[in-house]
Amino acid sequence: MKLQTFFLMVFSVVALGFTEGGSQLQPDKFDVRVLLAKAERSDVFEWTLKSPNGFFLRDPDDGTIQEIKGTKITVSFKQGRITINRRRLVKNGVELVAKSGETAFMGNRYAGFFALDYASREGLVHLVNHVDIEDYLYSVLRWESWPGWPLEVNKALTIACRTFLVKKILDSRREKEDGSFVRSYDIRATNMDQTYKGIHEFVALRKALEETRGIVMTFGGKPIEAMYDTCCGGVVPADLEGVDFVKAPYLKRDYACTYCKNCSLYTWKVIYRTSDFKELIRAGIEDAVPVRDIRILRRDKAHVVREVQVKTNSAWIALSGQKIYSLLKDIKSLCFSLKRDGNKIIATGHGCGHHLGLCQWGAREMVRQGWNYKEVLEFFYPGISFTSIKVVYVDKTV
Ligand SMILES: [Zn+2]
Repeated sequence: MKLQTFFLMVFSVVALGFTEGGSQLQPDKFDVRVLLAKAERSDVFEWTLKSPNGFFLRDPDDGTIQEIKGTKITVSFKQGRITINRRRLVKNGVELVAKSGETAFMGNRYAGFFALDYASREGLVHLVNHVDIEDYLYSVLRWESWPGWPLEVNKALTIACRTFLVKKILDSRREKEDGSFVRSYDIRATNMDQTYKGIHEFVALRKALEETRGIVMTFGGKPIEAMYDTCCGGVVPADLEGVDFVKAPYLKRDYACTYCKNCSLYTWKVIYRTSDFKELIRAGIEDAVPVRDIRILRRDKAHVVREVQVKTNSAWIALSGQKIYSLLKDIKSLCFSLKRDGNKIIATGHGCGHHLGLCQWGAREMVRQGWNYKEVLEFFYPGISFTSIKVVYVDKTV
């Protein structure tokens, strides 16, 4: 019943809850499910949660609660079952609810409650923090923005983060044939999605949330995939290869942002000793044979490296740009060139990350020049509209 209610609630965000034109509707309380940790059946792991006033265990199906002794919960896995404080859990899921206040986990403090979910078929255990959507965004802003930057910049980023989240929620809560959701969580807590580390004290960020409350960006009536990055380096996204611009036309910006040109990431340089550089590349080659030489074979129209050739003692081997990116941890993006200088190799590049969507340093300069947050977002995501979400609770039984 609870799952159905969640589904309908999110469904209603799409079907009923969007009102065009940006009227400031207040979203009701709505919990987002953030994946904090996961483990496989074969892993040895122990997760410890602490709360000063102790915990309840709550059954996710019928809501019955059971008190836990002490202020600590230790979760691990034994003989195919989850154990909580060394006692085996009969069901495949349980909620860990602090009696009051925060919960400490891995050095951070969290609001909301936690859910343990064991997908026995896949052998995966998930620890998921259920937290109010605006509290989640308040946390994310601490790590994804610069809290000391002007309010208008952080308002733009708040809307990007909220939109990114709402898209994730809608994707994860699609109902499968058996009535369950696609995923037991909405979003990951790492920079694979958005960095989330719970409670913090940067209260100034509340203003950016309050002044944009409920606002998301849409295209064709649906929330967009609101990609953002630190610095675009002047790369024109429309020239990038491998992006589905039919699905995401709002990412196909065909003009450059040069507002970030004073950012240190606009043009960056990494110097390697040639021997170190070759060792790094060698790790990505089958059999790890020694590397003699490397050359960039192909770039796309945006000047982003798509294919590299590596010379070994016996052959030239092709590696994808993505592979090189994973091997050279210090380079900031795939928009780079290589130059030899004595016993050094110098990598020079532009921008940081994927070059799509909002450029944060660009946005900062635009705001300094008088742009407002809506103008900034319309520049980086061409063709979007602004929409307010309202979470409408619909009970299927009514
Ligand atoms: Zn830029």
